Amino acid sequence: MNHAPAFEVKGWCPGALRPMQSGDGLIVRVRPRCGKFTLDELVALAEAARRFGNGHIDLTRRANLQIRGVSDQSLPGLHDVIARLGLLDPTPEGEAIRNLMISPLAGIDPDETLDVGGIGRELARGLASERGLWSLPSKFGFIVDNGGTLTLADERADIRLAAIRNGTDPVVAIGLDTQVGVDWLGSMSPATAAAVAIETAYVFLEVTPNGTRQRMRDLSADGLAFLRSRMRPRLDRLTLGPQKLNGRSDRRVGLLELGSGRFAVGIAAPFGRVETDQLRKLAGEMAAFGVKEIRLSPWRILYAEVPGASAARAILNVAAGCGLIADASDPLLRIEACPGAPACRSTSLDTRGDARRLAALLPQFSFEGTVHISGCAKGCAKSAAADLVLVGAEGKYGIVRNGTAGGRPASCASFAELTADTGIIFASVGARRHE
Ligand code: SF4
Repeated sequence: MNHAPAFEVKGWCPGALRPMQSGDGLIVRVRPRCGKFTLDELVALAEAARRFGNGHIDLTRRANLQIRGVSDQSLPGLHDVIARLGLLDPTPEGEAIRNLMISPLAGIDPDETLDVGGIGRELARGLASERGLWSLPSKFGFIVDNGGTLTLADERADIRLAAIRNGTDPVVAIGLDTQVGVDWLGSMSPATAAAVAIETAYVFLEVTPNGTRQRMRDLSADGLAFLRSRMRPRLDRLTLGPQKLNGRSDRRVGLLELGSGRFAVGIAAPFGRVETDQLRKLAGEMAAFGVKEIRLSPWRILYAEVPGASAARAILNVAAGCGLIADASDPLLRIEACPGAPACRSTSLDTRGDARRLAALLPQFSFEGTVHISGCAKGCAKSAAADLVLVGAEGKYGIVRNGTAGGRPASCASFAELTADTGIIFASVGARRHE
């Protein structure tokens, strides 16, 4: 079995103005303003995905939305729709730098330290207008975390802003992504947080050679020391320990209680993929209950505030009925799978079909871990380790335990062979069939 990479490593992300070619056509990424689309925007984008693409829409791990199957001929029409919605940036560089994630429940989260929506908006405006920052690597990203129920503590970003309590008043801590975790520099008032993040990005550019794809985590010890020495004098000292600052993300699906009789729903898309018809049905039900906006998350779960528990249940029922995930115990939530064939030319394997077949088997076994099914060693669906990885090569799957798609498989077989005796897969991770 040959495990040499058969894929092209890309150093940039697709955008609306800079689409990426894929097996099923161009991928056009649409970045929401501050992590939210209005319901009308979402419906317009879903219709545009059908009209100008193939109707497949991906929710991305950077909390964006991608329209697939666009052609060179249909791209201008799609651009017109995105521009009419006010979501098209003036230049590809200005678009690429608007790489910002914000806590999905910002402003409605009962446990948040601070509503960070204003900081997110100011940072997004600054990034789009500061031409000096457009030379940042296109994957260079920012996070604005409210420190609440759905914190983004587990997500990586080159520059992180996190609302904390340093004493009684909320302040904003700033941290840098390094090889050994977040390097917290200090804190500042919420009013100056966006400006400080932008200044930190400028200092990063001073210590990185022009035109490299170097990220914050690639900085040398000297580069990091320079950045610290420039930024720390203007920040307040942090008195909180790293555990308090770093926290853990909580990705909730289903009904979420926001307190004081308020509710939200979390709805996941299997493998991050939604179709025009699913979004149309979901949006129709939400509109009937007066829902105005949808919030995106890096977990590819859509969140929306809803007017009550019964509205939430009705919306979750519609979501489940059209093939979305509305139940936190759904085994599909534990499985990641790349698009595979025929969308991607790097494999002949129907990875997502195989993932659904495997999900149907999961409840029979004492296996509570995570699964990653990858058409090849590139591992597009998941860069972190999974408990069980099936990695494709030459029409078969290799089994990697507790690793990534780039790991060395212990054995390999066709999916049919692996599932003819499901014990082969689950025995590899020490799981037993329920009696
Ligand atoms: S991991 Fe999947 S989507 Fe990515 S290149 Fe390989 S086969 Fe294609």
